Amino acid sequence: MTPRSRSVSFVSFVGLRVREQELLRLGISLPGLENRHAAVAELPALGLLTLAGRLPSEWSCSYHEVDKWEQRLVDQITDEDPGIVAISALTASVKEAYGFSNALRKRGIPTVIGGLHATACPDEAANYADAVVVGDGEPVWSQVLQDASLGQASGIYRADRPFNLNESRPPRFDLAAALPRSRFTIQTQRGCPFACEFCAASRLLGVFREKPAHLLQEEFETLKKIVRRPVVELADDNTFAGARDHRELLGVLSDTGLRYFTESDWRIGERVALLRDLAASGCVQVLVGIESLVHSYRGFGEKRAELCRVMAALEAIQDHGIAVVGCFVLGADGETKGSIENLTKFLLDCSLADVQVTLQTPFPGSPLRQRLAREGRIISDRGWDYYTLFDVTFIPDCMTVSDLENAYRELAGAVYSTAENKRRSSIRKTVWTKSRIARKLRCSQSQERS
Ligand code: SF4
Repeated sequence: MTPRSRSVSFVSFVGLRVREQELLRLGISLPGLENRHAAVAELPALGLLTLAGRLPSEWSCSYHEVDKWEQRLVDQITDEDPGIVAISALTASVKEAYGFSNALRKRGIPTVIGGLHATACPDEAANYADAVVVGDGEPVWSQVLQDASLGQASGIYRADRPFNLNESRPPRFDLAAALPRSRFTIQTQRGCPFACEFCAASRLLGVFREKPAHLLQEEFETLKKIVRRPVVELADDNTFAGARDHRELLGVLSDTGLRYFTESDWRIGERVALLRDLAASGCVQVLVGIESLVHSYRGFGEKRAELCRVMAALEAIQDHGIAVVGCFVLGADGETKGSIENLTKFLLDCSLADVQVTLQTPFPGSPLRQRLAREGRIISDRGWDYYTLFDVTFIPDCMTVSDLENAYRELAGAVYSTAENKRRSSIRKTVWTKSRIARKLRCSQSQERS
C-alpha cells in the first residue's frame, strides 16, 4: 500500500428527500412542508464537523454538502487528492452516497462511510466503501486516520464502547459557515432513554448520555466566534429526558443570548420550573412526538399517556411562549381510512403552532423493521430511496398500500393548505407575542431588584 496525504475530504449527503413526484408537487406548493424542507437542508452535517474537530494538527480537510453525486464533485475531490474521503448519508440518500463512493474508488481514492444507516447495515455499506464506521465515530477516528495515511483504511471500524461525551471537542463549525447558512446544530446528549418501536436513532447511538455543561459552553463560544447570531437547533432526540438538573443546560443556553429550537417529549409541559427556565433561556420552538391519536407504539415508556393529558401539557408549553411542532406518524397497526380522517379533523382544529405528519417507516436498525420483516410486510421492491418518510414502504395491516398512500395525500393536502398554514402561522405569532411580553416582564423585574 502506498502512503497517502494527511488530508480528509468530508462529504455529506444532506437534506430531506421527497422521491414521489405527486408529493413533491404537493410539498413544493405547500409552504409548511417546503419551509421545513428548506430548514432541514440548511443544517450542516454535525457528525462530520465533529470528526473534523478531532483531526490532529498535521491533517487538513475540506467539507462539501450535496444532494446528489455529480461528476463535477468527483473531479473536484480527485483534484484535492485526499488521503481519504469521509462520507455520511441518511437511509434515503445512501444510494447516492454509494454511487459517489464507487466513482471515487474507481479513481483510486479511498472512502470511509459512517452514520446511522451504515451503522445498521455495515455489510451492505462495505460493498461500496473501503471502510465503514459502525456506531460513534470518535473512538475509532484516530485509527481510521492512521490507516488512511498508510493507504490501508479498510474493513469495519467498530468502537468497543460508546464514546464518553466528557471527551467531546467543539465541532469545526467554521467549515459549515463557509457555505451560506444561518442554522447550526449543537448536540447536548446522545441516544434516548425511551425505545419507541419505530425509532432506530435511540438504539443505534448507544446508551443515553449527556454532554457536560462546560463543554457545551465551549461549543457555543466557538460557534459565536464564527457566526454572530446563528439560529441553533439542538441535535438531540429528546432533550430533558435525562436525569440532570435542567438548570445546568439552560444556564448555558441562556448565557448565549441566542434563540434556539429543540426536540423533547410532551412531559416537559408538566414541569413548571423547567418551562419557565426554558422560555427564559431563549427556546422558541420545540418539536414533540405525539405520534398517533389512537394507536400505541411499543417502547413508549413514560411517553405513553391519554391524549387529553398530552394536549394539556402542550398547551402549557405554548402558554410559556414556546411554539410546539406536533409530530404524527401515519400507519401504525390498526390504522384505517377512518382513523386518518379523524386525525385530519383533529389537525384542522387543534391549537398546535405547527404540525409534521410523516409515514411510519421501518428504518434499518429499528425493532419495527425486524417485526415487519418477520411478518413478511416489508415491500421488498421499494429500496432505500423510498425511505423518505413520505413514501409507503410496508404493507399496512388494515388497509392496502394504495389506500394508505391516498389517505396520506388527502391529509397532507388538507393540513398543509394555504389557509391552514396561515392559521398556524397566526398561532405562532400569538405564542411568540406571549414570549416577548414575558421576557420584557422578567427584564423589568430584574432591573427593579437590582
Ligand atoms: S422518544 Fe423520540 S427519540 Fe426517544 S425513542 Fe421515542 S421516538 Fe426515539
